[in-house]
Amino acid sequence: MEKSNCVTGAERVPITPEICLKAFEKASNEEDRDGMERAIAMWMCNEDVVSTGVGGKQSINLEQRAKEIHSGLDEFSQSKRTTAVAIVKNADGTEQILVGSSVKRLSPAQRELLNSGEIEAIGEGHAEVTIINQAKANGQTVIDIAASRPICPNCANTINEVGANPVSPLKKVKR
Ligand SMILES: [Zn+2]
Repeated sequence: MEKSNCVTGAERVPITPEICLKAFEKASNEEDRDGMERAIAMWMCNEDVVSTGVGGKQSINLEQRAKEIHSGLDEFSQSKRTTAVAIVKNADGTEQILVGSSVKRLSPAQRELLNSGEIEAIGEGHAEVTIINQAKANGQTVIDIAASRPICPNCANTINEVGANPVSPLKKVKR
């Protein structure tokens, strides 16, 4: 999924994560709260387009899947950790699902929940970053990524840098 359209105000413009992030950074620098919210809304709108499968490709709801696998944790861990799920593309064009945690590994109960084709990502850092690092190490391209809680600005940046689409909400930045 490289580009999708969404209506922002009166015009219909192609939205990419880069455009959303630029708009967000600009508004953030200017401390323009409305602008920041618009940029987030733009990204969310993009997410809607992505999750309805404009690319003609049947895809799973990654955010829902992240929450499902997250629910494999006990309540305390659910409140402390994040679970992320991403669609990645292999060098041969086939796709795979990577699932990562904000701690080094998924819990055994979470691993039990994985379907065939869903692979655990292992490593340090936020769940989203763990997935991106493992994908990079294996020559995979991250396409869409979602997390069980709003994606933090650092992860949003990393996701943007690798050209992936965040398909679950981003964390709102407090002033
Ligand atoms: Zn993060």
